[in-house]
Amino acid sequence: MAERAVVTKKGAVLLGDSVSCDAHDSSRPLRVVTHAHADHLYGLRSSLKSCEKVLMTKATRDLTDTLNGSFNLKMTQTVKTLEYGKVLKFGDEKISLLKADHILGACQVLVEDAGGIRIVWTGDFRLEGTPVVDCDVLVVEATYGSPSCRRNFKVDVRELLVSMVEKRLRGGTVYVFGYHGKLQEIMQILRNADVEVPFVMPERVFEVTKVCEKHGMRMGCLSLSTDSEGHELLDGNLPCVAFYHMNQRQYVGLRNARICVSGWEFHSPCRQIGDREHLVAFSDHSDFDGLIEYVKRSKAKQVITDNYRSKGDALAMEIRKRLGVSAVSMPRCCGQTTL
Ligand SMILES: [Zn+2]
Repeated sequence: MAERAVVTKKGAVLLGDSVSCDAHDSSRPLRVVTHAHADHLYGLRSSLKSCEKVLMTKATRDLTDTLNGSFNLKMTQTVKTLEYGKVLKFGDEKISLLKADHILGACQVLVEDAGGIRIVWTGDFRLEGTPVVDCDVLVVEATYGSPSCRRNFKVDVRELLVSMVEKRLRGGTVYVFGYHGKLQEIMQILRNADVEVPFVMPERVFEVTKVCEKHGMRMGCLSLSTDSEGHELLDGNLPCVAFYHMNQRQYVGLRNARICVSGWEFHSPCRQIGDREHLVAFSDHSDFDGLIEYVKRSKAKQVITDNYRSKGDALAMEIRKRLGVSAVSMPRCCGQTTL
């Protein structure tokens, strides 16, 4: 059954006969975008031009347009949005997008072929909020696919984040640095914990936050850092939370309390990395244990690990060893033709 799914050397995840996910493949009439992160948008312009349909959730469409305005997906005829769980029939195959807990709009992809074989691509996901899909053939992401990538912390990182922010707000503005999508998740966590101070942010973060709000996330009072109100809050070091993309870390809030949020931290939930700066281990991906658990619960008989966006070899080996399930990583290596 291995040939029912392939990851090409260009990073396209091919499922069944018609679908290519997260990179363009000229042999496939359907392209799926699992979420708005750049490493899942490869060749999107070619897909928009030559595919019959380009499928994604509405939230992914809106988020992709906000992060990459030049696509203008909203106005493109080939783009078809699909709700979670709705089935699209194409030839003999049934395609559906299922929720993935990662960033707003993220999905897994399920293809059921004419013979009833169920083929799944997880896309990026965090196990806790992601329904595991029963399948025969599974392509799984492998970001934290090494046994050294475990976050078995005894504390609840969300609660820790809230208490760190609350404590530091007593001294004025708190800066939070992270990536698009994750910043908005932290906003939501703080609002749910009744942190009601204004949130201040630059334009790009603001636009992404507005898309999240449109799709049901509760963001509360937002200010642009470039507006007079935002200036007043930040210049006066008033109690508010300033959200900036990680790449602004060396430029803003240098004298303030600062919290950087990263998934690449496995030793402790929180550690000091500067005078008033802490790193908090918070990820929108499953750690190693979460990946293994997903594979186990999916009951897949054949597993392929994504060796394009991350190193899939270790995970494939661990799946074979721990679960006794047939597993390979794809593509095999750079420049080599795919299996
Ligand atoms: Zn992602």
